[in-house]
Amino acid sequence: MLFMDFARACEQLEGTSGRLEMIDIISRVLPGLSPEELPVFVRFIMGRIFPDWSSKKLGIGPNLLYEAIGYVAGMKKEEVIEKINLTGDAGRAVEELLSSKSQTTFFHEDLDIVRVYTELIAIAGTEGKKSQREKLLAVRRLLGNARPLEGRYLARIMLEELRIGVGGGSVRDAIARAFEVDSSLVEHAVQALNDVGEVARLARLGPDALRHVHITPFHPVRMMLAQQGTIEDMIKEHGQIAAEFKYDGSRFQFHKKGNWARMYSRRLEDVTAAMPDVIEKLITSTAHDVILDGEVIAIKDNKPMPFQSVLRRFRRRHDIAEAQDAIEMVPHVFDILYLDGETLIDLPLKKRRERLESVVKLYIAPQVVSSDPLEIEQTYKAALSAGHEGIMIKVPGSPYTPGQRGKNWIKIKPDVDTLDLAVIGGEWGEGRRAHVFGSFLVACQDQGKLIALSRVATGFSDDQLLEVYELLKDRIIKKSGKEVTFEPVLVFEVGYSELQVSPTYEGGFALRFPRFILIRDDKDISDVETLDSIRERYNRQSKSAQAYQN
Ligand code: AMP
Repeated sequence: MLFMDFARACEQLEGTSGRLEMIDIISRVLPGLSPEELPVFVRFIMGRIFPDWSSKKLGIGPNLLYEAIGYVAGMKKEEVIEKINLTGDAGRAVEELLSSKSQTTFFHEDLDIVRVYTELIAIAGTEGKKSQREKLLAVRRLLGNARPLEGRYLARIMLEELRIGVGGGSVRDAIARAFEVDSSLVEHAVQALNDVGEVARLARLGPDALRHVHITPFHPVRMMLAQQGTIEDMIKEHGQIAAEFKYDGSRFQFHKKGNWARMYSRRLEDVTAAMPDVIEKLITSTAHDVILDGEVIAIKDNKPMPFQSVLRRFRRRHDIAEAQDAIEMVPHVFDILYLDGETLIDLPLKKRRERLESVVKLYIAPQVVSSDPLEIEQTYKAALSAGHEGIMIKVPGSPYTPGQRGKNWIKIKPDVDTLDLAVIGGEWGEGRRAHVFGSFLVACQDQGKLIALSRVATGFSDDQLLEVYELLKDRIIKKSGKEVTFEPVLVFEVGYSELQVSPTYEGGFALRFPRFILIRDDKDISDVETLDSIRERYNRQSKSAQAYQN
């Protein structure tokens, strides 16, 4: 497939807002692609280069890209940046710059998607002292051969923000339609392989290929997530339920095969180097090849420490040995997804638990199975008095569904007045804070869309504002006066005194006295609070206010 054809498909998709129409466009392209092109096309169309399980980065910062664009368009980097700020879209800016340039150049070597992919992989693999220079040359080469429309999408792929609105669900449906396979089979394969590209390649071979997918050690799968709920509802619906302590630390996935072991964070980053002590503990706990799911907490004087201590450690690159002495990191394992070559995610929790207990000897999180609300209530109290966050209630007959925030895992914890929200905009600060962003617009999610909820301007130290500035300065997608719009990449934990109904924001709610608590870089944008759960909190809050007034 020529990259030009890919660019045309993107242009068509960008002009479409209907999901069904998008599925239609993509599903008509897929059957014509070779096995080699399929995974590349599918990843590219979602703005990805690497499989979702991979934490590899392309390593082309906006600066390098702007420099390369400047070279190809024959202008200074600063002029390129100005142009991008004006259009608010690097892709369109590159397109315009290439159009004016193409009147003077006649030679183009046709790009095709597999070649672009191969070159990007080579760029990502460039290491060492001269790597920045080599990357720059490679990007210049690619852009130098791009026609204007290709430039629009090539630039966006290199920045890993394609912005054509194609979500994972649409791509999965398009694969199902293109190869006439059941969409639940596609969904299941995506959950196990965590790579839609590879799933497209298998779907081409037919339903059997999809049915027999296996989890591969060292290709982390997405974590199963929890919703809020109540003990009573869970018992009413399921009878017997399984309760575990909800540990307030950091989620991990531990992979072990033979003598080789790695550990991944909730966002599937490889945190092996930062956690040698935990890895050692888990290695000694089993002789088998396994993938384990759990939470690691920090312990000092026999008490759990706030989860920030674990986060700090996940981020740590140096002086790990020193950090190990200060605080003990203890893993609590609550699930097993893979055992000696066998994929276990489709087994019910009860069976997975049996396997877990038969092969792992230490660090298993205790579980209470009961249909008695009092017994579960007692477990909850025990959890809180031991300094944990609450309990998790799980349905014993349920499979492990990677990446899903379903009703099979329910979290029970005391109401806390904080929310995890996406940072979508900001405003430059004033006075001594004029060189950083001073306030931020934060959003919750609703049906895949981000909905503004509040502005946060207090609670930051100067250091924190500087840290946030470093994280967001290259993520500006629009500027208007002092206001900026960010690509949504960062999650803040935000405290508040009360939820209010408000016409100011689209979601109909606003926060009273919002204040910044913490950067949640263990969380993805898809983890931020939903509008539904905010509505639920609001209802609970007004009920308790009424009770107070009565
Ligand atoms: P939340 O982050 O509030 O949505 O709660 C879900 C998180 O609780 C999971 O992602 C885990 O990191 C954590 N957690 C702690 N203990 C457990 C447990 N026993 N089972 C599942 N998740 C747990």
